Amino acid sequence: DQPIHVVGGGLAGSEAAWQIARCGIPVILHEMRGVRGTPAHHTDGLAELVCSNSFRSDDASANAVGVIHAEMRLAGSLIMQCADSNQVPAGSALAVDRVGFSDAVTAAIDNEPLITVTREEVTGLPPSEWDQTIIATGPLTAPSLAEAIAKVTGSDALAFFDAIAPIVHFDSIDLDTAWFQSRYDKVGPGGTGKDYLNCPMDEAQYGAFIDALLAGDKTEFREWEGTPYFDGCLPIEVMAERGRETLRHGPMKPMGLTNAHHPDKKPYAVVQLRQDNALGTLYNMVGFQTKLKYGAQAEIFRMIPGLQNAEFARLGGIHRNTYLDSPRLLDSSLSLLARRGLRFAGQITGCEGYVESAAIGLLAGRFAAEERAGGVPDIPPATTAFGALLNHITGGHLSTDDEPGKRSFQPMNINFGLFPPLAPGTKLKPDDWEGRFRGKDKALAKKHALSARALGDCKAWLGGNDGAAQAAE
Ligand code: FAD
Repeated sequence: DQPIHVVGGGLAGSEAAWQIARCGIPVILHEMRGVRGTPAHHTDGLAELVCSNSFRSDDASANAVGVIHAEMRLAGSLIMQCADSNQVPAGSALAVDRVGFSDAVTAAIDNEPLITVTREEVTGLPPSEWDQTIIATGPLTAPSLAEAIAKVTGSDALAFFDAIAPIVHFDSIDLDTAWFQSRYDKVGPGGTGKDYLNCPMDEAQYGAFIDALLAGDKTEFREWEGTPYFDGCLPIEVMAERGRETLRHGPMKPMGLTNAHHPDKKPYAVVQLRQDNALGTLYNMVGFQTKLKYGAQAEIFRMIPGLQNAEFARLGGIHRNTYLDSPRLLDSSLSLLARRGLRFAGQITGCEGYVESAAIGLLAGRFAAEERAGGVPDIPPATTAFGALLNHITGGHLSTDDEPGKRSFQPMNINFGLFPPLAPGTKLKPDDWEGRFRGKDKALAKKHALSARALGDCKAWLGGNDGAAQAAE
């Protein structure tokens, strides 16, 4: 039997290899550590956690990460099995003993007769005889392979840093203060002239905002990350340091915008938000990439009129990261459009975090195995956490046609903003908690309903086909 090749034995690659083996197909897992290290890994163990030891919330009833944990368990995830058996106390979060966890993954893979681990750096694209390959080389993909990938995808389709602006849940924006309008009411391709949400500031509010940006706690780049200020992606606090008016002449310029709530009051500065996903549930703060610490970001950005109650689907950041412009390059089964059978998995696809990377590894492994068996990859429904994350990576993202040459796809953790909204009239269950459905209670009720829908649909999707789960028990 021809093996399927998996490159990278991190969170995604280990899970992908396991899933393929569970389907009875041989795998060769190529991992370079042992021969060559990365700037963040310290060991040769498979699935090493390079930083925190937390898999975040394990609450499958009302938290999107908890839901994806549960879906992974249903699908027989090796990563979840080893996390569960190496858990350390962390309240409602799932945290692990990092050494025990990596040892358990390494032992399971080493003891699996269908998986062969080779310790080598893969320096170019897979040779043509590898008809099914999954590349899961992560945020620190070795440069030779990254260069080879960039040759097929085009160099503008592979990024080496992320420059992430915060993303806000639409339903937490105060629409009595913010208004929809494109600058100069310009109608771009597919636009309406009302494509942006605008948050106005007067002079005093702008001054206080600049003071807060300058005083806010910032994170430092690590030594090996360098200072990647490029492409007009300066962090907003660096722009503020260059002059108090710089932001007002940059991303916060008020020109061409009229406050729909107070047409007579000319805003001194405006923060713009742009729709971030096709569902319209998420909006990103345009030009607000930042190295401010998370706590400082939430506090400072809630000073912006209209965002006083903002709930952030993700906060901003700038990191060394290698990731593809996946919505443009990959099909819904994570295969490169330009070369069928060459799949990507993990953080290199533009998901973010240990759990998400492993989840995408799990899907890529199943898809490759299904294709090898002569079938068609069975894509999870968009209502599941698997499907919502996959959809963010491969399809659900909006391009910024109005800003040619600018990448719009940025990595993201799983969150409820990626799930399709509940069908109108969905009954929110009153028996889950006490009280009436108002404010926070209603938001919680919606999370319960989204979680229940996801898990129900995931079970139906796995159907009688959860052999991997049973085999792993
Ligand atoms: P990895 O786990 O990095 O695995 C990729 C593997 O591919 C590595 O083992 C690498 O050695 C191997 N490899 C690379 N190139 C080649 C090659 N050419 N040939 C063969 N093998 C190769 N996420 C969190 O959830 N929490 C955190 O606290 C956190 N902290 C982070 C800190 C840093 C410094 C970095 C860089 C990332 C952090 N992340 C964190 C993100 C985290 O790395 C990813 O979420 C996760 O490890 C990605 O999984 P992966 O399988 O895609 O990549």
